[in-house]
Amino acid sequence: MQIVTSIGAMQRLAKRWQRRGVRVGFVPTMGCLHKGHLSLARRARQLVGRRGRVVVSIYVNPTQFGPKEDFARYPRALARDLTLCRRQGVDIVFVPDNRQMYPSGRSSPFSTYVVEETLSQRMEGASRPAHFRGVTTVVAKLFNIVQPELAVFGAKDFQQAVMVRRMVHDLNFPVKIVVAPTVRESDGLAMSSRNKYLVGGLRDSAGVLWRALQAAREDARNAARPVPAARLKAKLSKLVAATPAARLDYVEFVDPDTLRPVVKVTRGTHMALAVFIGKTRLIDNGRL
Ligand code: AMP
Repeated sequence: MQIVTSIGAMQRLAKRWQRRGVRVGFVPTMGCLHKGHLSLARRARQLVGRRGRVVVSIYVNPTQFGPKEDFARYPRALARDLTLCRRQGVDIVFVPDNRQMYPSGRSSPFSTYVVEETLSQRMEGASRPAHFRGVTTVVAKLFNIVQPELAVFGAKDFQQAVMVRRMVHDLNFPVKIVVAPTVRESDGLAMSSRNKYLVGGLRDSAGVLWRALQAAREDARNAARPVPAARLKAKLSKLVAATPAARLDYVEFVDPDTLRPVVKVTRGTHMALAVFIGKTRLIDNGRL
């Protein structure tokens, strides 16, 4: 396994692979890897084959964090991440630094962003202004650096995956976007690097995201006719409010392709929610 820290070196490798017709699968991450991330690397390997190259990037992207968010204390565990990647059979770990990604020198400071203007407006976009601008910008940069044939994203960050797909379509990136299922703990909690923040009783409270999803699923599937979204939202708000240390940020029922909210919830509607557990903001989503 090779560790590449320079953008130039990564681009030269990518060019060489391209000339030789080597297939490249890419998994962008912010590190502090868990089984969810590793499942994406495994999927990339399945898709590019033994002769292909799997590239994992580890980069905590400052532009996708708000000023009051957890950029500074976001968990970092590079040595452990490298061990996990090596064990998983990853070929290249790309670890750029902020100086290269967002130069701030006087002569050529960074000033170009990629902005998606529709899908980014609701849910995560409404709660975290500028978050998606940071995501689309860094993903566009990483695609230009790694030049993969395909990139694997997790369904855990559903709105992000839908938006990246739109960006790739709108800006004609020659990259196929693959979305892999959310990997969960045994009680249903979606694996996340931020679960590290859940100490003591908070870990139990975090189970409420999965319980809310399951409750909505049951209602959507068992109801004789479509369920009004407002009614289901009220029910789930109560469920969250009854959980210690939990505070609902949003719960939305949307069309999975357009992300437009639906008025009536049926089987196949997509649900997404964000809940604060103590100070930690967790998200989850799923098809009902
Ligand atoms: P992050 O490091 O949180 O930016 O995530 C990097 C990639 O891993 C994104 O495509 C996420 O959607 C994906 N991911 C994070 N958690 C999970 C999970 N529990 N299951 C599947 N994919 C995940």
